[in-house]
Amino acid sequence: MTKTLANQVVDTLRAALSERNDFIPLHEPELGDTELANVTDCIKTGWVSTAGAYVGQFADKLAEATGTKYAAPTANGTAALHACFHMLGLGHGDEVLMPSLTFIATANSIFYTGAKPHFIDCDKDRLGVDAAKLDDYLETIGRREDEGVRNIETGGLIKALCVVHIFGHPCDMDPIQDVCDKWGLKIVEDAAEAVGSTYKGRKCGSLSDIAAVSFNGNKIITTGAGGGVISNDETLGPLAQHITTTAKRPHAYEFIHDYVGFNYRMPNICAALGVAQFDRLEGFIETKRKLFTVYEKVFAGIDGVSVLKEPSDSRSNFWINALIMDKPDEETRDVILSKANDAGIMLRPIWRPMHMLDIYKDNPRMPDLSMTEYHNQTVINIPSNPKLLPLLT
Ligand SMILES: *Cc1c(COP(=O)(O)O)cnc(C)c1O
Repeated sequence: MTKTLANQVVDTLRAALSERNDFIPLHEPELGDTELANVTDCIKTGWVSTAGAYVGQFADKLAEATGTKYAAPTANGTAALHACFHMLGLGHGDEVLMPSLTFIATANSIFYTGAKPHFIDCDKDRLGVDAAKLDDYLETIGRREDEGVRNIETGGLIKALCVVHIFGHPCDMDPIQDVCDKWGLKIVEDAAEAVGSTYKGRKCGSLSDIAAVSFNGNKIITTGAGGGVISNDETLGPLAQHITTTAKRPHAYEFIHDYVGFNYRMPNICAALGVAQFDRLEGFIETKRKLFTVYEKVFAGIDGVSVLKEPSDSRSNFWINALIMDKPDEETRDVILSKANDAGIMLRPIWRPMHMLDIYKDNPRMPDLSMTEYHNQTVINIPSNPKLLPLLT
C-alpha cells in the first residue's frame, strides 16, 4: 500500500528534523550577546521606556532597511497599520480594498477608523493581490470620483488598497500601481512579514504611499513587540512620526499637543533589542533562503506538495516557508496538521480568510474569492526558525 500524502509529509519532516527531539515551533526569536548587552544597558541606565537613544537609532536602521526616508517606530504592527489608515482620513462610509487572505490585523486596523475592509482575491503563485482581477472587479462595481471610487453597490467610497506581502513574498506591485493610478487609489503596504524583501530591486515598505511593518516575536527580526510606519512621502512620513507619539510639539517643558494623536511609541528597551537584531537581518535572510533550498530538496520526491517559491522578479526574505498542496483538500491538510503537531512539529494552516470569519462575513467583497478559498485549503506553514538550518543540512 502506498503511504498517504499526510504520512509522507510528516515522515519527511520528522526525518529531516530528526536530531531535534524537543517540540519544534514554527518560529522563535534568535537573540544573542548584543541584544543582551543593549537591554542590560537600558536597565542599568533606567532608560527603559518611551524616551531614550535606542529609539532614534532603531528608526534610522528601519528607514535604511526599507529604503524609506521617514520611520516611526511603534508599539506593534497593528498600531502602525492603524496609524497608516488614520492618516488617509478614513471614516464611516469609506471602504479599503484588501486581500481576504491575510492576518486579522490588516482588517482590524481598517475597521478601527470606522471604514470597512472590502475583501478581494489573491493570485495563485505569490498569494498577493491579483491586479487584473481587481481591475475587472472595479470596472463592474466602481465609478471613479475625485476622492476615490464610488462603490455603486454599497454607496461607499473606496479610498485605498492595502497590499500584503504574504510570508515575505512581494506582491506584483507594477500592475497593482497601474490599477491604483487608473482608479485614483492610495496604496498602503502591510509589509509586516517582508522586512528585507525586495521587488525588482526595490525594498518592500518603499513600494507604496505609506507602509507598516511588525517586529513581533515571530517576525524575521523582533523587538519583543513592536512595529513601525515608514514612508517616502514628505507629508505622511513626518505626520506618522508626530501622531504616533501623542502629537506633542517639541518644547523644553510645556505639554502642547496640536492633534488628537496616539500613544503608539516603541519603548527604548524594545528598540535596544531591535538595534541589535537589525544588524543580523541580512544573516537571517541568508539562513532562511538556505532553509528554503533544503526544504525544496527534501520535498522534491513527494508528489502532491511543493514548497512556495519566491517570485522570479523578487528576492524574498522567506520569513516563513510554506508547503503548497497541488490540489485543495481540507481533509488531507487537517490530517497533516494534526499528525505533525502530535509528532512535536508545529505546522499551521494559512489564516482563515477574512470573509469566512463571523466578524467580517457581511463586509463588502468580491463575489468570486475562489483563489483565496483554494489557498485556504492548500497552504501549510512549516518550521522556519534559522536555528533549524544546521539540523537540516
Ligand atoms: C504580524 C502581522 C501584522 C501585525 O503585527 P503585530 O505586531 O502582531 O501587531 C499585520 N499584518 C500581517 C500580515 C502580519 O503578519
